[in-house]
Amino acid sequence: MREDIEDKLRILGSLSVFDTTGIPRPLNLGYNRYKNFIYPAVGFKGKICNLFKVLQTNRCQYNCYYCVNRCGRDTHRLSFKPHELAQLFLHFYKKRWVEGLFLSSGIFPNPNTAQESMFQTIKLVREAGFKGYIHTVILPGVDDRLIAELGKLSDRLSLNLEAPNEQYLSLLSPEKSFHDELMGGLKKINYLYRKNLFKGSISTQLVVGGGAETDRDVLSLSQFLYDKFSISRIYYSGFIPVRDTPFENKLPCLPLREVRLYQADFLLRSYGFKYEELIFDKEGNLFIDEDPKLVWAKHHLELFPIEVNSASMEELLRVPGIGKISAKRIVSCRKDNRLIRLEDLKKLGVVVNRARNFITLAGKMFPYKCKIYSSPRKETQLLLWEEI
Ligand code: SF4
Repeated sequence: MREDIEDKLRILGSLSVFDTTGIPRPLNLGYNRYKNFIYPAVGFKGKICNLFKVLQTNRCQYNCYYCVNRCGRDTHRLSFKPHELAQLFLHFYKKRWVEGLFLSSGIFPNPNTAQESMFQTIKLVREAGFKGYIHTVILPGVDDRLIAELGKLSDRLSLNLEAPNEQYLSLLSPEKSFHDELMGGLKKINYLYRKNLFKGSISTQLVVGGGAETDRDVLSLSQFLYDKFSISRIYYSGFIPVRDTPFENKLPCLPLREVRLYQADFLLRSYGFKYEELIFDKEGNLFIDEDPKLVWAKHHLELFPIEVNSASMEELLRVPGIGKISAKRIVSCRKDNRLIRLEDLKKLGVVVNRARNFITLAGKMFPYKCKIYSSPRKETQLLLWEEI
């Protein structure tokens, strides 16, 4: 590989880590020197695929206070030409190192020019016969025409809102307009989706912990987006201070805050909860030491215990420790068998020690002997991908 292309890859590949719209961890391919740019992510039809995650350029005219690419920051600036990046991706694809592309970019010299460059890259990749997964980041303020063209070539379009409203956005990214550029772009993508002109999925990202936004502000926006837009995922990216930015001395976002936001998001997206039902502390944040579903259940003890053998699907999904899969298994299994032991539930995937204080099995209760509701901090940190 040419030395200048290697340089671009090293810099523009590693900087893409700051867009966490996907799993923000490079794949551990020990044999592969390009491993830092390859990420496992949920791609087409929910299948995990290895994505080549890269920026078209790290040049940017904007000055977002948290961003490693902000203008004026003393760093090496590089750009891929569309044919260089297309060839590089196709090379990785032919080697079977990657199955899909995640393409983002800084904004230089203006949104349309930067997005056009991304469009040309993706067009070349498609013209070369690549039919796999492409996730394209739409930049704020680009013309509707470009969004529509990219919608024809992409499996996922995302546009990062960054903050829950105009006021918080002005504290992070003063040059961006929340309503016109960000929500306006998301509305355009949504319009294309609803008119069946874009057949993929839509996502967005919010930076948390960089401004003064509370979890209540963030999740209120999430509920709005799930209700009014066809958004399939919202990503919550915990703020990390970057040297030589106005926010370099700010504290990073607690990793557990991100976990709690994702758990609350699951409740909104998949468990039939409404934002108004979530329980926040007096500052407007989720309780950091307990998952939001457990906190909700503790505030609604009048609804428990529920009898597992007769509860509706909706009731089962409200029990801490019973997730969607285990609830479905319970409903299917109890058609033929009465569930009478905690062991039966364990086999169906229920997190029994979490559920036992909220259920009965054939009328029998199973109270936890020790501390009933509080869960040790160490344990709760492991719960992001567990059923809730
Ligand atoms: S527009 Fe994007 S790349 Fe540019 S400074 Fe803001 S967040 Fe960073």
